[in-house]
Amino acid sequence: MGKLDEAAFEKVIAACKCGVSAFEVHSYIDRALGVMLGERNDDGRWTHDGEKFIDGVFEITCIACRQHAFSSDDCPRCHREGGLADTKVMSRLAVPKRCPACKGTEMTVSGFAPAVVRTGAAKRPQPTPVALLGEPGFHVVQILCDSCDWVALAEGCPLCGSSGPLRARP
Ligand SMILES: [Zn+2]
Ligand SMILES: [Zn+2]
Ligand SMILES: [Zn+2]
Repeated sequence: MGKLDEAAFEKVIAACKCGVSAFEVHSYIDRALGVMLGERNDDGRWTHDGEKFIDGVFEITCIACRQHAFSSDDCPRCHREGGLADTKVMSRLAVPKRCPACKGTEMTVSGFAPAVVRTGAAKRPQPTPVALLGEPGFHVVQILCDSCDWVALAEGCPLCGSSGPLRARP
């Protein structure tokens, strides 16, 4: 379980101490995309559900007064203390230009992207990614070759690089 469950999350975003109920919610969530020769073919798409969004939340900021309604410095994936700072770097698992097995050039990558959502009146239907593949903060979890069965997986915690253990996600 993440730092917040659904009930705790709903409580936090109900209203700020200043009376406004519009927040920026920062979370690490699942994103998949197509890659060719190590570069992204597209910006990708979200593959998380609502529970996973809440599970990855590490900061909730009031849009009006900028106070944190919630924040955690721990890694959002493994809960290692202070681990959040270690997630703002380049992905530790890099995508090869060609498949090491079949030399294919196209792969499907899944990973974690930092994302922001606005609640309240300015709510948008989809989270906005803060980093995409190839930018600090985006972390590759799994690479699948589109032409053969070659697979690469991140070792340990894909977000902060610690050896784990990973906690269960909803
Ligand atoms: Zn406020
Ligand atoms: Zn291959
Ligand atoms: Zn971690």
